[in-house]
Amino acid sequence: MIRLENVSKYYKSLCVLKDISVNIEKGNIVAVIGPSGCGKSTFLKCINGLVPVTGGKIFIDEVEITSKETDLNKVRSEVGIVFQQFNLFPHLTVRENINLAPVKVKKMSKNKAEIQAMYLLEKVGLLDKINKYPQELSGGQAQRVAIARSLAMQPKVMLFDEPTSALDPQMTLEVLDTIKNLSEEGMTMVVVTHEMGFAREIADKIIFFSRGRIIEEGPPCQIFDNPVNIITEEFIKSVLKDRKDTVHIQKEVR
Ligand code: ADP
Ligand code: MG
Repeated sequence: MIRLENVSKYYKSLCVLKDISVNIEKGNIVAVIGPSGCGKSTFLKCINGLVPVTGGKIFIDEVEITSKETDLNKVRSEVGIVFQQFNLFPHLTVRENINLAPVKVKKMSKNKAEIQAMYLLEKVGLLDKINKYPQELSGGQAQRVAIARSLAMQPKVMLFDEPTSALDPQMTLEVLDTIKNLSEEGMTMVVVTHEMGFAREIADKIIFFSRGRIIEEGPPCQIFDNPVNIITEEFIKSVLKDRKDTVHIQKEVR
């Protein structure tokens, strides 16, 4: 479904991604972990064509999106991305935020977009907020609306870049639950997260980044219980130590 072949990315002389090759199967959930500044966000942005790669190739459904002929707007509508900051339009209601792109970009009829918005809001548990403005929502609710807005483009793949980093533990749980529900529906997803308990629970595969390289990848049981690389082990230990609370709460709730 998603394939990267020897992808590299430079910002001027700074090498941010080094020779990344990875395969993500349809319906799989991949969690990307690693220290700050190691290239996780850049990795996601390359996958939906937000930043051009310097070298290598990226394929989505066997279409090379790094080819000059590829229509990047089409790629971006097929690959949804949700950031840490929800980026909802403050002057638009929840309904308008969700319907804007489907109507403007996908030329969906207003009627169809409206039905879809209601369906998606129901799915993220926020149908009652349809006429609210973003500032009337909690951070967790705003993030769930951002997820619904992304889904409104009917993407093949969803990318999440630390979707809960700006949220308190309770809101984090709401958002993680929403993402978990999506994963159960078979959506292909790549999630950058520091929520190790969550990554372990939902991911088919964990990718560990360090300094622009994938230094270890494998099923959660390998990465968490028997990491091959000492750097992976040290990283996981340090995150679990720092973020004991959220992980602990998560365990209690589930
Ligand atoms: P992460 O998401 O893992 O924290 P990023 O992908 O955001 O890492 O960043 C990786 C490196 O690339 C960092 O050193 C960052 O400063 C640098 N970087 C990211 N975006 C840009 C940019 N637009 N221009 C220059 N350097 C950038
Ligand atoms: Mg980042």
